[in-house]
Amino acid sequence: MTDLFAKDAFAGKVVLITGASSGIGAGTARAFAAHGAAVMVNGRNEARTRKVAEEITRAGGRAQASVGDVARSAYCDALVAETVRAFGRLDVLFNNAGIVFNAKLDETDDARWQQLIDTNLSGAFYMARAALRPMKAQKSGVVINMSSECALIAYENLAPYSATKAAIAMMTKVMAIDHARDGIRVNAVCPGDVDTPMVETGWQQLKLTREETLARLNAHIPIGRIGQPLDIANAVMFLSSDAASFITGALLSIDGGTTAR
Ligand code: NAD
Repeated sequence: MTDLFAKDAFAGKVVLITGASSGIGAGTARAFAAHGAAVMVNGRNEARTRKVAEEITRAGGRAQASVGDVARSAYCDALVAETVRAFGRLDVLFNNAGIVFNAKLDETDDARWQQLIDTNLSGAFYMARAALRPMKAQKSGVVINMSSECALIAYENLAPYSATKAAIAMMTKVMAIDHARDGIRVNAVCPGDVDTPMVETGWQQLKLTREETLARLNAHIPIGRIGQPLDIANAVMFLSSDAASFITGALLSIDGGTTAR
């Protein structure tokens, strides 16, 4: 994939990414760091989170790891404070952390439902609220929320997950108009299927092999391939850049054409 961004495109920028210990979050952390940003890498798994930050540092970038659960409001406040302490400001929050559970509504118990809401929705809410404080003081900032194609079209077995992602989409639009005059832009990305450990969880829950899953996805996605973390990272970097300075309140589909059907 051709790299359209200058190596120093995000020099001097501070980016905080939740759920950056694997998949899309890790890919986006590496991509921002490779283009000059200082990156705060959040994840729940200590070894994996530290590994991503260390890889970035070893490659000559700036990164710090913070291990914690975005479903905890107090941790989210502390994470934003830690980012500002470490790097002096906060320019971009990528609210990426999330979990999936493939099941019909009546197969989802209270604990699973609560876990989905706490991580996917409350986590994004707590993080955005915490990030608005330094961003309002700076009179600038970008929040990018992780929604999904599941917020736009209906997929079987994903009612509880889709409800969280649809809520994120509307939270994004209202935040965008509430904070436009504060110099803060708020957008959401709506990926289709992306080749990450999350998709692996999905096919295991559906008792499919990786090959069966990829064959189904390639047939279903108009562009004919599954997405890669870099496809999402490129869109997140674009939305974070001044090239997107008139874009706020948008839900950007990054799905190889799936939701255009
Ligand atoms: P992934 O499982 O590789 O990554 C999810 C990350 O979130 C992990 O680092 C995990 O540790 C972290 N996380 C989960 N709960 C957390 C919590 N409570 N606190 C902190 N971190 C937490 O999956 P991914 O595919 O990279 O998913 C990233 C995001 O993209 C998710 O929000 C997901 O819903 C969304 N998404 C993924 C796809 C896809 O096809 N992979 C499609 C649309 C949207």
